Amino acid sequence: MKKEVVIAGAGLVGSLLSIYLSKRGYKVKLYERRPDMRKETMSAGRSINLALSDRGLLALEKVGLSDEIKKIAIPMHGRYIHNADGTTAFQPYGKEGQFINSVSRATLNCKLMDLAEQHGTEIFFDHKCDTIDWENNTIHFELPNSQQKKEEFDLLFGADGAFSATRLQHQLQHPKFEYHQYYIDCGYKELTIPPTPSGEFAMEVNALHIWPRKDYMLIALPNLDKTFTCTLFFPYEGKFSFEKLDTEEKVKVFFETNFADAVPLMPDYINEFFTNPTSSLVTVKCYPWVRKDKFALIGDAAHAIVPFFGQGMNCGFEDCRVLDELIDKYSENWETILEEYQELRKPDGDAIADMAIANFTEMRDKTADPVFLLQKKIEARIHEKHPDKWIPAYSQVTFSPQIRYSTAYNNALRQEIIMQHVMLKPGIAEKWDSEEIEKLILEKVSRR
Ligand SMILES: Cc1cc2nc3c(=O)[nH]c(=O)nc-3n(C[C@H](O)[C@H](O)[C@H](O)COP(=O)(O)OP(=O)(O)OC[C@H]3O[C@@H](n4cnc5c(N)ncnc54)[C@H](O)[C@@H]3O)c2cc1C
Repeated sequence: MKKEVVIAGAGLVGSLLSIYLSKRGYKVKLYERRPDMRKETMSAGRSINLALSDRGLLALEKVGLSDEIKKIAIPMHGRYIHNADGTTAFQPYGKEGQFINSVSRATLNCKLMDLAEQHGTEIFFDHKCDTIDWENNTIHFELPNSQQKKEEFDLLFGADGAFSATRLQHQLQHPKFEYHQYYIDCGYKELTIPPTPSGEFAMEVNALHIWPRKDYMLIALPNLDKTFTCTLFFPYEGKFSFEKLDTEEKVKVFFETNFADAVPLMPDYINEFFTNPTSSLVTVKCYPWVRKDKFALIGDAAHAIVPFFGQGMNCGFEDCRVLDELIDKYSENWETILEEYQELRKPDGDAIADMAIANFTEMRDKTADPVFLLQKKIEARIHEKHPDKWIPAYSQVTFSPQIRYSTAYNNALRQEIIMQHVMLKPGIAEKWDSEEIEKLILEKVSRR
């Protein structure tokens, strides 16, 4: 007898997980707090579009969705940097042919829910998980009009996001649950660049645009309707902060001074600045993720991370793929499946969480730093010539799903130590592509 599965949260990860399990013949009930986004226009939530990369695509491929998703994705081959002095530069993400994809969160989520239903998942909307009775394996939901509903489960997944109610219920009845939550001092606000009057993209379409300004940055990802969604990552408090930009005039002066080339492309930015929400960015680390053979956290509920590596969803999708592989390995032995799922994914979740924080500094500050850019150029050259010996950290995370996040993290630390040494070599700017530097790096790699 296959277990009856309940999943709380029909976001990106819960919906994908339900497809994996329904395809295997499990009876899956998916409960979602919000109304059906396929029927109702929802107000803009967090991040209208997302960067989907190879880990996410691999997980989608396993359920036959990657080709369909690629059709609604816009390839972004690199970072298009808008410097403060008005110059621009293109920095490829990887080798020729390697790119990440801009996809609409809503379209992707709707497609996942459609497919889940096609495979037999039942989805219940307007059901907010409230409490869980672990003794009797029952989950309770609040419905509109204060109605209540309870559902029994053999196996429950908490896929209800960063502020997970299932995680809280797990925590409340656990003798030593570890929970760490960190907010960074920046929030974010979304703004729009519409198409040009002739209906075209207003900037280079196949790139992720960044205006790096040290303590803050603006980024823009393209959408299929030829708009760009811009996101301003900006301190809450301080000299340049959301708190200080409290009049239209101050916003105008700030944008015209700092994002001069973006301003003419954003006719409504002042209005959007005051009407669109300012949202916070949180990292959540917790442990344990599982309870015997009957409960597991997955996606942001297990490991919410900041968006600067573009990996939150990709990591959650990878959770689903790894879990699926463990079902193959251990058949119906769910206690072992969940135990190993946690053992594998917890270090990986922690690793990408830390790398995502570090990437904030890289994006907002270092992408405009000539020394950093030279270092990246040297690494790209070594990778090109010796792909078996050196894969840049970004490529390990983004284009190498066969490398675990935790391995990529350790490799990145080792590579950084090597590169710090290399960058101190006198005359490095002139001899960066010399045999001497190449030999030095390879020697250090082999020593480690
Ligand atoms: C600004 C920003 C940009 C991002 N960019 C990227 C990116 O480029 N690439 C990337 O890979 N990731 C990105 N992410 C991260 C990505 O959004 C998340 O990792 C991803 O949405 C996680 O999916 P999830 O299904 O685990 O959680 P969620 O998407 O949060 O879904 C959780 C679902 O559970 C529902 N729910 C919540 N509480 C309850 C309850 N009590 N009962 C029932 N249902 C409930 C919610 O309504 C929601 O539908 C970004 C995040 C942000 C904030």
